[in-house]
Amino acid sequence: QIEEMMYLDKLNMAGQMAASIAHEIRNPLATVRGFIQHLAEDTNDKQFKKYSPLILDELDRTNKIITDYLNVSRPGKFELSLLNADKVLHDCVELLRPFASYSNVSIFYSTSGQHFIKGDEQYLKQAIMNVIKNGIEAIDGQGEVMIETKEIPASNKIVVTITDDGKGMSHEELNKIGLPFYTTKTKGTGLGSMVTNKIIREMHGMIEYESEPGRGTKVNISLPLANQKSK
Ligand code: ADP
Ligand code: MG
Repeated sequence: QIEEMMYLDKLNMAGQMAASIAHEIRNPLATVRGFIQHLAEDTNDKQFKKYSPLILDELDRTNKIITDYLNVSRPGKFELSLLNADKVLHDCVELLRPFASYSNVSIFYSTSGQHFIKGDEQYLKQAIMNVIKNGIEAIDGQGEVMIETKEIPASNKIVVTITDDGKGMSHEELNKIGLPFYTTKTKGTGLGSMVTNKIIREMHGMIEYESEPGRGTKVNISLPLANQKSK
């Protein structure tokens, strides 16, 4: 029991540390953004004019990621609305397509129709994108990430399956997924899966990992379907 306590304390500490680091990074990021914006308005440099919106977009994205991590240890602030799950997935795929092609990975997306769920769009995108990103990052050289949706009418839910043919995970590795700061990547944060699990749980969903070393990983995310009439 004492050991369990210490473990939970450590988890808590990790969460708080993540929050304060995120907070510290945000301020200089805002300063950089301000300067870039200011310079872009004044400059005659064509290259800079062309690329500054990209720089600003990336800074905004970085800030967003930080916001989401920060919110992990500050629960709440979920804004529930009726979402078209297939549209959200489509957006996630399109947002990650450049990253995938840069990594020699093809992304396929197939849906079996339109499914509506109740959730927070930004959080859900964050959750799904974390999983797709992990799939892409698990692939050395060329590979494929496949995203499928399927309706399970009997239990009134939708299952989103994200499959990759990357390096896969052993049983031990699978057990560590979602622990804060658990990463096997040199540039990993080890926070992605933790955030994803939390978000899916918050939406009353479930997440399941199936994996085999050398063969790839399959992630099943099930979410309750919304009753459209309650719109
Ligand atoms: P990060 O991506 O920053 O490492 P995550 O929490 O997203 O943090 O993932 C934790 C670890 O779980 C990864 O470093 C990786 O070892 C493993 N992992 C997650 N998804 C996959 C996957 N699809 N294939 C293989 N390993 C994975
Ligand atoms: Mg990750």
